[in-house]
Amino acid sequence: MMQAGDSYKNALWNNWKWQFSHRITGTERLSEIIHLTDQEKDEISECLKRFRMAITPYYASLMDPDDKNDPIRLQSVPSIRETYYCEHDLADPLNEEADSPVPHIVHRYPDRVLLLVTYVCSMYCRHCTRRRVVGEEDRIIGGKELKAALSYIRSHVEIRDVLISGGDPLVMDTGRLETIISQLREIPHVDVIRIGTRVPVVMPMRITDELLDMLKKYQPIWINTHFNHPKEITPDSERACKAIADAGIPLGNQSVLLKGINDNADIMKELLLKLVHMRVRPYYLYQCDLSQGISHFRTDVETGIDIMHKLTGNISGYAVPKYVIDAPGGGGKIPINYNYVISKNDREIVMENFRGDIYSYPLPSK
Ligand SMILES: *Cc1c(COP(=O)(O)O)cnc(C)c1O
Ligand code: SF4
Repeated sequence: MMQAGDSYKNALWNNWKWQFSHRITGTERLSEIIHLTDQEKDEISECLKRFRMAITPYYASLMDPDDKNDPIRLQSVPSIRETYYCEHDLADPLNEEADSPVPHIVHRYPDRVLLLVTYVCSMYCRHCTRRRVVGEEDRIIGGKELKAALSYIRSHVEIRDVLISGGDPLVMDTGRLETIISQLREIPHVDVIRIGTRVPVVMPMRITDELLDMLKKYQPIWINTHFNHPKEITPDSERACKAIADAGIPLGNQSVLLKGINDNADIMKELLLKLVHMRVRPYYLYQCDLSQGISHFRTDVETGIDIMHKLTGNISGYAVPKYVIDAPGGGGKIPINYNYVISKNDREIVMENFRGDIYSYPLPSK
């Protein structure tokens, strides 16, 4: 058994194109990294008929070869439970098709759009929301489709924020990405350009000076990444996040609340504080949505509220994300909060603080 972290590494380890082209996509190579029984191999192969697997050697090297509940393994290696569909499962849980005026654009909120530039990712997260499209085929947006998407943005002056997503936009070559970003930057009403990417977590060597030098030309750019567990914070991912922050690009993080992985206040707290240390601002904590074959990842909403309650006030406000449910059917993100308001009448509002002590605030007379 090779320990992925040691002999497996080679001179090309830090080259992101090598990492990408050596992704682990089948059970043979996977079993060189983690212990798999024959039954597990069969089960993984069964899942692979429906959903692809791809794991960068870097991300695979973080797995404990013997721990079936390793948080890295649970996020990247298929489980037979993915073949169990439950009655609420939906192919397009967020109804993104309905809010797509032209291919590759999702326009749901008044002033911002998603621009989906690729269906490729460096690692296919088992809990992915867009698993219906992501990983189906290796496709990036074509010239004609890009033209149509850009022309939609150009003709809608209310769009001031474009979120480049996918798939993972940072699997594209820097040059190809620059073609898209530079054209967006030429549109006068587009103010902020955001990039949603999991690369700092699963392929941090993609964060190169070449990439950052390109992005710096098109400020204001924000990057939103996707750490779910403190084990994903390594010297490599830390270096990537610090390089992004040093380039003057603010970094946010969205996590998905995942049963058995991070649905625990202590794990979440450790993750959030480590993110802040790397200058990554926790942004959203998503309730796991209704994509097909991921019901085993869904945690009780009460657990989510309880975690938020335990965090709020106990760690600094900028370490605490917003807990949201992206409403099935296309309702958008809805904040789910612990209720601190005990009562309210014409005279006062009575509230509970983070310790559970009761306070009252006299309301201004009308
Ligand atoms: C999440 C999302 C956005 C961005 O929303 P913010 O709250 O501004 O981060 C935009 N469009 C769609 C369809 C989204 O799902
Ligand atoms: S990186 Fe994002 S889009 Fe890609 S598989 Fe993971 S969750 Fe899905």
